[in-house]
Amino acid sequence: MNMNMNKKELPGKNIEDVQKLNQVTVLQCIRQNEQICRRQVADMVGLTPGTVTNIVRDLIASGYVVETGYLSGKKGRRAVGLAINRRGFHVLGVRLSRSSIVCRVFNPKAEVILAKTAVIEDFEDAERVLRSMLDLMEEVVEESGVRSSLQAIGVITPGPINFKEGKITHLHGNVHWRDVPIRSLIQDHFGIPTILEHDANAAALAEVLFGEAREASSVLYIAVGRGIGAGLVLDGEVYRGYMGTAGQIGHLSVNLSGPPCECGGTGCLTNYASSRAFLKQMRQELGSDVSLEDLVTLAREGHPVVLEGVKQAAIYTGAAAAGAVNLVNPAVVVFGDEMTEFGSLWFDTAKETLLSRLAPEIRANTKVRLSTFGQEAFLLGTGAIALEYVWQNPIVTPNAVS
Ligand SMILES: [Zn+2]
Repeated sequence: MNMNMNKKELPGKNIEDVQKLNQVTVLQCIRQNEQICRRQVADMVGLTPGTVTNIVRDLIASGYVVETGYLSGKKGRRAVGLAINRRGFHVLGVRLSRSSIVCRVFNPKAEVILAKTAVIEDFEDAERVLRSMLDLMEEVVEESGVRSSLQAIGVITPGPINFKEGKITHLHGNVHWRDVPIRSLIQDHFGIPTILEHDANAAALAEVLFGEAREASSVLYIAVGRGIGAGLVLDGEVYRGYMGTAGQIGHLSVNLSGPPCECGGTGCLTNYASSRAFLKQMRQELGSDVSLEDLVTLAREGHPVVLEGVKQAAIYTGAAAAGAVNLVNPAVVVFGDEMTEFGSLWFDTAKETLLSRLAPEIRANTKVRLSTFGQEAFLLGTGAIALEYVWQNPIVTPNAVS
């Protein structure tokens, strides 16, 4: 891993950069509104009507925007509506987990065109897993017939990853998953820009683009699954940290004299509150064959041991989340992944614990929500990171008259 200091980008802008920036801004304005006219776009983004007309013409010619007909209810000159072209292009989303590979083709509205899943028999055989992943991607692209309109590929994998180099740096407990250059592998195969992201960041972006945190610019998404990880969107951008490992909330210590963790710490949150830890504890009390679905049912039926276990797990999570909120001050905290399947039993306790540990003025201004997507957030996240790439890097034919 490159340990040199990150160089800050210098702010110089050439005329082409300004043109691209204006295209991205106009496109953003149009996608944030179901339907909007050129005049409204000009007012909202602060460009002259003439400039907006030129940019819109290019965006229509490049397939990103369509005219929707006259807008009703306008006085005087009737205005033509503009909207995102849902057939303009496609992106491919891939989620690689330890048990399966899921590929989906999305349109610009994040609607799924085609989806396929492959089960992984032996995750440790990295070479074989990567080959099956490329095969499944090929299959989905071929069958959906989107090869020529594919503009980006979003890939999420278990972390930690090196975002800059597009590599999985290592996976705990898997020796063959070290320094795997997964981004270049896919990019070289398909010749399409590929974005590699860790799952919690992708889910956080999905919440910002389509879900519970839609209008918020600073969001903390906490995935409480087999491991516990956080995704951070700060001031509208995914925050990854110096090495790309930000968000490892599962390794915050909630008990300094607790058991050692594989990270080197002691008493880490993940060993108290992840679905894996919770299941392990419940199996000790209720028998080794109990599954997480069984526990959800038992909780609904009011089984006292399960109720107490869920509550304890939620308290640990809420307390650690309060620490994270104090550190980054998000507008919205969203909880997702497996433990949220216990519904309000888990969520209310986590939320209450979190809020009770914040200073009054922070408490009053922090929204705490349950993800509406559940496990779906990760799959939607694969589309979100790819779509976001296209929105920031549209392929617009240069215009002749500027
Ligand atoms: Zn740890």
